[in-house]
Amino acid sequence: MDFLEQGDSASWPSSAMTTSSERIHGKRGAKASKWTRQEAMEEGELPGLGEAAGSSTDHLDLGLGIPAIAAWGYELEGLEEERPAPCPCPQAPLPWLSWDDELQKPGAQVYMHFMQEHTCYDAMATSSKLVIFDTTLEIKKAFLALVANGLRAAPLWDSKKQSFVGMLTITDFILVLHRYYRSPLVQIFEIEEHKIETWREIYLQGCFKPLVSISPNDSLFEAVYALIKNRIHRLPVLDPVSGAVLHILTHKRLLKFLHIFGALLPQPSFLSRTIQDLGIGTFRDLAVVLETAPILTALDIFVDRRVSALPVVNESGQVVGLYSRFDVIHLAAQKTYNRLDMSVGEALRQRTLSLEGVLSCQPHESFGEIIDRIAREQVHRLVLVDETQHLLGVVSLSDILQALVLSPAGIDALGA
Ligand code: ADP
Ligand code: ADP
Ligand code: AMP
Repeated sequence: MDFLEQGDSASWPSSAMTTSSERIHGKRGAKASKWTRQEAMEEGELPGLGEAAGSSTDHLDLGLGIPAIAAWGYELEGLEEERPAPCPCPQAPLPWLSWDDELQKPGAQVYMHFMQEHTCYDAMATSSKLVIFDTTLEIKKAFLALVANGLRAAPLWDSKKQSFVGMLTITDFILVLHRYYRSPLVQIFEIEEHKIETWREIYLQGCFKPLVSISPNDSLFEAVYALIKNRIHRLPVLDPVSGAVLHILTHKRLLKFLHIFGALLPQPSFLSRTIQDLGIGTFRDLAVVLETAPILTALDIFVDRRVSALPVVNESGQVVGLYSRFDVIHLAAQKTYNRLDMSVGEALRQRTLSLEGVLSCQPHESFGEIIDRIAREQVHRLVLVDETQHLLGVVSLSDILQALVLSPAGIDALGA
């Protein structure tokens, strides 16, 4: 069985589960569970978009490779003896320690070591759908093909160079719209006519931006570092011999791997500390969008701030939704990319088969609870709110992986 399919039962050992602030509003009905099931099969696929999305999981075999299980079994034996006394329960008063103090404690490096000792091969699917685009393909066809295949990104193959030269992601769709959109009445002919290579020449303006990739033999620690340091969300794993793309790693898959297997490791005390105490996430200078603002405004913010999602707020500053870069692909799916005057609130209402409401957390919740929730819900971030749903911050998978894996090594790839 693939490690992703075990996800629902795994949780950090002693963190209490709460549901009070999980979702600000909206129903947790069939829509969310269908999304979750499908995402659990392959987190790289678009839920419910395009003809192929529904059946695309049929040919996925996401089994964890035998070497990983063997390595894990071996480690487990050793770790049983080292397991420390149970952590104090989250309710018990704890002496105030900062995140830096927590990192000095024995055991704080447990997830760093785990990720250093496991390779990208261990976290890869044994088979999954992969679509590759030749750079001579028209951009419109490329984005429609992403939608039709239920995918979020594709590696780009340059047949002249005979190598992979980059990725095409939903962010690129946003960049194209941002650059060429004029008004709802004017057709974006660049989308119809440009090839991927034309767009890349115009956008990159000759500056060489190489593909960021990783080898299956590299550690998961290096994968986390590459994703966060380069501020990307898709990391292709390339076969060092053939150069073929074997898999595309994401923050979600890495966190899921760590969440499932980390549940068997000794639990560091920082998991019982509140998110407020540890200060993990972004709390200042938050990028938000009003529900009444046009989608064009959201795209401007995505491009200017390079954030992956925007909490959607009402006139009183309460969080009423979340608009992520992912959601922009619905404009391609519905062929409504000329309607950037539509409000963000309306765009959220038109989303098909996606999460309703906002997945959130509150400052008093423990880091362990927050990791459990974000792993269970398979989203890239939780929105931090107070009891009146006013925005306090954003806790993203980048923040969590930085804290669990890189900070214990003294590396600040997020802030750098
Ligand atoms: P998204 O969150 O929409 O999937 P990313 O954050 O991964 O997008 O991509 C941001 C930008 O970086 C895009 O222009 C994309 O083409 C580029 N990019 C993404 N992954 C890689 C990679 N592995 N190597 C080089 N460039 C990449
Ligand atoms: P990706 O896998 O590309 O990182 P995201 O997790 O950003 O995708 O988004 C996937 C879907 O989940 C989108 O429809 C987005 O609006 C929704 N979503 C993501 N985070 C939240 C959240 N905290 N609350 C509600 N919906 C969310
Ligand atoms: P991400 O791109 O979501 O992986 O996050 C990269 C960094 O940006 C993390 O430190 C997040 O906390 C932060 N971040 C994500 N969304 C927002 C937002 N809307 N406003 C400000 N910071 C954000």
